[in-house]
Amino acid sequence: MTRTVYVNGAYLPEGEAKVSVFDRAFLMADGVYEVTSVLGGKLIDFPGHLARLARSLAALEIANPHDDDAWLAIHREMVAKNDLEDGMIYLQVSRGNPGDRDFAWPGAEVAPTVVLFTQSKPGLADSPQAGTGIKVISIPDIRWGRRDIKTVQLLYPSMGKMMAKKAGADDAWMVEDGKVTEGTSNNAYIVKGGKIVTRQLSTNILHGITRAAVLRFAREAQMEVEERAFTVEEAKAADEAFITSASAFVMPVVEIDGVALGGGKPGPVATRLREIYLDESRRSAI
Ligand code: PMP
Repeated sequence: MTRTVYVNGAYLPEGEAKVSVFDRAFLMADGVYEVTSVLGGKLIDFPGHLARLARSLAALEIANPHDDDAWLAIHREMVAKNDLEDGMIYLQVSRGNPGDRDFAWPGAEVAPTVVLFTQSKPGLADSPQAGTGIKVISIPDIRWGRRDIKTVQLLYPSMGKMMAKKAGADDAWMVEDGKVTEGTSNNAYIVKGGKIVTRQLSTNILHGITRAAVLRFAREAQMEVEERAFTVEEAKAADEAFITSASAFVMPVVEIDGVALGGGKPGPVATRLREIYLDESRRSAI
């Protein structure tokens, strides 16, 4: 099926959409993005994604091209035009096309470039991987220092994913100063003695929208949560581990650097949190 994509106010067949070669996202990775999951044709955790988009744009001094109502209307139109039942909506805002290449960025006279497209994933919430869990390897975190801004600068996370595949694993956890920061495209957690441990928020990690929701649900369910950094050795000795992201929801991790956790099977805390997250976020979907 030919997708309908969105470029700067126009809904177009994907083959007809155009962005300039001088666009700052193409030349400088000067842009930010969001990925919102869609379940049953409705947007999951949408206010959180819009709030983070606004923060990312403000951090880079890019004007937010739309208010929240307009963003919602565009997302809903994309769901409708693409008959999207389950999947994701990718949204990107770049600093736009100044008409030439220059390190100094242009002022408000250049409008941001706005692109959205959909990815259909039938049965997204019933991924078989959730039943088996994923394997991760650890790699050094050599990314830049503002990982709290969701920029399109994703080369190292892509390399990390390829390193994991080469090693026969599914993903990589990045390690800085001896402590796990996060996964290539997700936040990382371990569980020990019933306590959920995940790195505290800072400029060193992306402030996951799924993370915020999952920690809230965990606390509401009287689970103990500790926000602090942990080592790979600690993770290998944990009872269980998991990751969270908008598209993976809560995904159990059953192996770290070849060491099996919980007998190599998804643990009860991750399994329960996945159920709670899916139930609650479906309920609040818009
Ligand atoms: N960390 C990184 C580096 C990510 O790329 C992502 C997903 N974009 C996340 C964490 C998870 O964030 P969210 O739950 O908002 O998808």
